[in-house]
Amino acid sequence: MPSNNLGICFPALRPVIPMQKTTDNLFLKYAAPGILGLHPYIPGKPISELEREFGISDSVKLASNENPLGASPKAKAAVTTLLDELARYPDGGGFDLRAALAEFHNIEAEAVTLGNGSNDVLDLIARTFLAPGSEAIFSEYAFAVYPICTQAVGATARVAAAHDGVTGARFGHNLKAMRALVSEKTRVIFIANPNNPTGTWLAKDELLEFIDSVPANIIVVVDEAYTEYVEESAYPDATQWLKPYPNLIVTRTFSKAYGLAALRVGYGLSHPDVADLLNRVRQPFNVNALALAGALAALHDHKHIEQSVAINRAGMTQLTAGFKGLGLDYIPSVGNFICVDVGRLAAEVDDQLLHKGCITRPIGGYGLPQHLRVTVGLKDENQRFLNALESVLK
Ligand SMILES: *Cc1c(COP(=O)(O)O)cnc(C)c1O
Repeated sequence: MPSNNLGICFPALRPVIPMQKTTDNLFLKYAAPGILGLHPYIPGKPISELEREFGISDSVKLASNENPLGASPKAKAAVTTLLDELARYPDGGGFDLRAALAEFHNIEAEAVTLGNGSNDVLDLIARTFLAPGSEAIFSEYAFAVYPICTQAVGATARVAAAHDGVTGARFGHNLKAMRALVSEKTRVIFIANPNNPTGTWLAKDELLEFIDSVPANIIVVVDEAYTEYVEESAYPDATQWLKPYPNLIVTRTFSKAYGLAALRVGYGLSHPDVADLLNRVRQPFNVNALALAGALAALHDHKHIEQSVAINRAGMTQLTAGFKGLGLDYIPSVGNFICVDVGRLAAEVDDQLLHKGCITRPIGGYGLPQHLRVTVGLKDENQRFLNALESVLK
């Protein structure tokens, strides 16, 4: 076997030894309850992968609800200053970022739980409060991470039918249907406001009434990953309800409007007793040093958020006008993405769009096989996508 003069093998040069056939691997049946029924989350294709596969360049990615403006320059600068510190563990308690978030939300630092992205916080919630025999409630078309983290801990998912367009905005969470699923087994209720992938949202009165109606021993999670983008006056800030509802957890992220998806940092706000439980389950150093510093700087760059929201507003107008021009239905969205009904199998349209260098997201996995979810990009990116879509549908 080839090796360097230290006797260390170069992995790439080693012969590949075929693995045992999976059917022979008896340990599979000993996986924890729920694990074998899981399907891995399918992320948007990275640009590098598309360009490598199709031999194209200059493609646009509108598939993962990333900020097309990029990160705040202040966050980039903060991350750069840490490059000489990479050998050091991060601050496992995230002291500075938690303190800054506490001030930002006018709450105590003990109420803040930091996560490796807010998905990590959702997973901590599941691991803390769910187990085989208990139930989590969420809506049809709700964010894919809720079923994954519920099933991963062997708990049972109870899925409420979404609004049909008569009872409320079509595809949106139906809180009455969700409330009707509450039982003695319910431990956690996940609500995305607004929801991804539908972009639908819940108004202050209905959401507050719902939270108030839920027994106090059930954790209610309000996932506000896109809150910075929402400009509806009736849209609530659920962090305002943390004091009266100690069973409430609000999650936020730096991955969307703050433009720091690569760093992986998000957080939960809750009663300190809830945060204390989450922090016992949390891995030490779950948020890395670059993420802590980048998020801290980004939190104070209000100008970057304002610009991001303005770009999104203009892009959303551009995309919806484009869809109308093509005679396509879409789900009205308050996020930085929108689902368009392409009138045929969206996976096929997606494939053709990929060949034209446009990455979007078919959402058949959510039970919407004719919808493509498109992230609002910069003006030129949106136009390229609309042109590609027009030529594919022609
Ligand atoms: C993107 C998203 C998140 C958060 O993702 P992270 O990158 O893990 O912070 C959470 N909830 C919803 C609904 C999302 O769309």
